[in-house]
Amino acid sequence: MIQNQFENNVKLSFSKTKSDVYYLFDQVQKLQKEVLNLKLDNKELKETITSLQNIQEYEVVASEKGKKLHNSSCVFAKKINPLNKLVFNSVYDGITSGYEVCDCLTN
Ligand SMILES: [Zn+2]
Repeated sequence: MIQNQFENNVKLSFSKTKSDVYYLFDQVQKLQKEVLNLKLDNKELKETITSLQNIQEYEVVASEKGKKLHNSSCVFAKKINPLNKLVFNSVYDGITSGYEVCDCLTN
């Protein structure tokens, strides 16, 4: 009888371990899915931040002595003497001030 009891205990332990392993496997799969979702969220967040940074980085500028409006990252914009540099709130503002639009702003 004692032998039998022992056997039953061992069987019970194994079955519990088995179900624990299944449970853990299931949890790992759920966590892997969450990690994947977080990675996707993180990617979208990075893209949003990058596009926001790009908006902030680009200013519409022109030289007082020039004729064209430039994106502040344009090679021509970088040649503008800071003393002559004008910054506009928008391309429209620049055009109404009499400036033409450089290709750098239409791309
Ligand atoms: Zn330009």
